[in-house]
Amino acid sequence: MTPTIRPVHVVGGGLAGSEAAWQVARRGVPAVLHEMRPSRLTAVHKTDKFAELVCSNSFRSDDATGSAIGLLHAEMRVLGSLVLRAADAHKLPAGSALAVDREGFAAAITTAIEAEPLIEVRREEVSAPPVEWDSVIIATGPLTSPALAETIRASTGEDALSFFDAIAPIVHRDSIDFGIAWFQSRYDKVGPAGSGADYINCPLTRAQYETFVDALLTAEKIAFHDFEAATPYFDGCLPIEVMAERGRETLRHGPMKPFGLTDPRRPVEKPYAVVQLRQDNKLGTLFNIVGFQTKLKHGEQVRIFRTIPGLANAEFARLGGLHRNTFLNSPKLLDETLRLKAMPRLRFAGQITGCEGYVESAAIGLLAGRFAAAERLGEALSPPPPTTAHGALLGHITGGHVETIDSGVRSFQPMNVNFGLFPPLGRGAARNTRKSALCARALADLNAWSAMTARHAAE
Ligand SMILES: Cc1cc2nc3c(=O)[nH]c(=O)nc-3n(C[C@H](O)[C@H](O)[C@H](O)COP(=O)(O)OP(=O)(O)OC[C@H]3O[C@@H](n4cnc5c(N)ncnc54)[C@H](O)[C@@H]3O)c2cc1C
Repeated sequence: MTPTIRPVHVVGGGLAGSEAAWQVARRGVPAVLHEMRPSRLTAVHKTDKFAELVCSNSFRSDDATGSAIGLLHAEMRVLGSLVLRAADAHKLPAGSALAVDREGFAAAITTAIEAEPLIEVRREEVSAPPVEWDSVIIATGPLTSPALAETIRASTGEDALSFFDAIAPIVHRDSIDFGIAWFQSRYDKVGPAGSGADYINCPLTRAQYETFVDALLTAEKIAFHDFEAATPYFDGCLPIEVMAERGRETLRHGPMKPFGLTDPRRPVEKPYAVVQLRQDNKLGTLFNIVGFQTKLKHGEQVRIFRTIPGLANAEFARLGGLHRNTFLNSPKLLDETLRLKAMPRLRFAGQITGCEGYVESAAIGLLAGRFAAAERLGEALSPPPPTTAHGALLGHITGGHVETIDSGVRSFQPMNVNFGLFPPLGRGAARNTRKSALCARALADLNAWSAMTARHAAE
């Protein structure tokens, strides 16, 4: 008699949970998918459908040779993603973007899940996964129900779960003008992990500072959603435009203070204000603008931040924001297969792990499902190579981010997939073909990983 395989419990039937349950079942392992809708809705979900898109209907660029998100689409197709299959079947005309008919898309996912014999659907809220569930994937998203959030917080620690993100823009290092900017830590302090020259500094004259403050004061801002109305400006972490509103000198005594910094090209003349950027990933390809969390509209951020000397040609891996969210301090808490180190029966997937976006959430759901199924079947499954979009995103979540000890908001913040997360190409790689070379390398490595995992599964 074939021994019965115990199910993997997936909590949350959003983008990540639907994909995770599907991947578990595809490997021949039973899954139980627990979804609290429709008996309990979140502040933004309106239907009982799995993988409901709560806002835009776009999965962003579908260009697999020049964009990181398009590459992620291509990789997900190779890996048999249900979310990409449904998106392709319900796509709408949208230029080079993959946009979907949201109702057709969610209906297709729901039908596929309900028709899959290895998936049992339970419409219920899970407030605490019972101890007898020995393999659980928590994919409850940015609006995880309060009861479950409290259980997670109690199992992970006071600082481990955030209920808002506070995102400062991130800049690709190779787009910064080092004819103007320079490396130096304030007062040349070395600190526990530094060299004394860890920050990138951009100097402003008084006139440039005044113009910058004026631009912040008059820029267009994004309003909070109704359900975010009670958004506290938490962790003492004010948006820069709110700081500017509190007084013209506030920024100069806060994130733009010039003290302890000397422009090597003008050692005698002190800058009036300085914008600092701090390394964000272990690869050293991305730097965040320190203290610049903001609710400015994205176009305004690009326009205004490019007026900072040294950032005229800045390319942004991420723009700033402040949203209601629920996410773990994953680099500290999760292992490389997304298990909670302190309680390995629990795995996390989707936005709650600190990725951002529909597609990224589904991709992390895909990996979590595969990891859980392999574990159940006693197979070894190594994470995808860091050169792939899946591996780069997983790396951001489980280890690629650089933790800092500065006061203020915790440094790990949600991120979309972007080329700054990928290991750079070797020296001599042509700049104008960099993106297509990164994509080609990723797809080759992903195909090799996929073939290897299929071979191991067959052994
Ligand atoms: C207001 C808002 C707008 C957004 N707009 C966009 C956008 O335009 N584009 C984009 O790419 N991303 C957007 N996002 C981010 C988006 O939420 C995520 O990208 C994506 O939906 C996250 O996928 P997920 O599977 O992690 O979570 P979700 O898709 O939110 O799925 C989580 C599921 O878990 C269920 N659930 C929660 N708690 C429990 C519980 N205790 N028991 C059982 N079930 C539970 C929920 O009902 C939900 O179905 C937006 C987020 C928000 C909050």
